Amino acid sequence: MNLRQLFLVNNACYQANAPLQIRGVMVHSTGANNPDLRRYVGPDDGALGRNPNNNHWNQPTPEGKSVCVHAFIGKLANGNIATYQTLPWNMRGWHSGGSANNTHIGFEICEDNLNDAGYFNRAYQEAVELCAYLCKEFSLDPLGDGVIIDHSEGYGRGIATSHEDVGHWFPKHEKNMDNFRSDVKNLIPVPEPEPNPVPEPPIPQPKTDEEIENRDENTEINSIKWYIRLLNFLKKLMPKFS
Ligand SMILES: [Zn+2]
Repeated sequence: MNLRQLFLVNNACYQANAPLQIRGVMVHSTGANNPDLRRYVGPDDGALGRNPNNNHWNQPTPEGKSVCVHAFIGKLANGNIATYQTLPWNMRGWHSGGSANNTHIGFEICEDNLNDAGYFNRAYQEAVELCAYLCKEFSLDPLGDGVIIDHSEGYGRGIATSHEDVGHWFPKHEKNMDNFRSDVKNLIPVPEPEPNPVPEPPIPQPKTDEEIENRDENTEINSIKWYIRLLNFLKKLMPKFS
């Protein structure tokens, strides 16, 4: 993942600065043929390139709309793929048109003409890596019910407005959201099971005072027994002792 950061500080959503209770991630795609990040993210930081129309989303209401997402995935000026984080992850975004804004981080994949498999595969992989990163960061289960969903699945759940993304694009390249979720899951390392513990030899415990006392007593009793035996022996030898 090529993760960069340029917060859209002039966007009214950023300025509203509302908190987000992170429960999942919503995947969007832009619905317009323009894979360049500079279309949405600006001003130019040297890697994005200049947006001659100055219609990026770093303004209060881009094209008159109250919209903002947490990240965009698309092309840098040099053609490489990158992710730009555009809102703090724990800030409420304006991406779903529904209650998913309260619970889901939302990001956009910049669409091209939808037919370029090379661009799709690179952008898809970047999106998988972004979601794996977010799942690790916020302890989300990528296969959990309603955790990683696209905009159209959000509509089906009644938490987003009616949009097709990304179901109008992924299947053109033999992918769907189930593939996406399991690809995210596969990037999250499963913790190694603990090896079977080798039994330790028992460690001799220090004697308790009582045991030490008993041992001393036994030693004493044994000495007395030994002394009596000696006396008896001497008696046999020398009758005058008796
Ligand atoms: Zn959408």
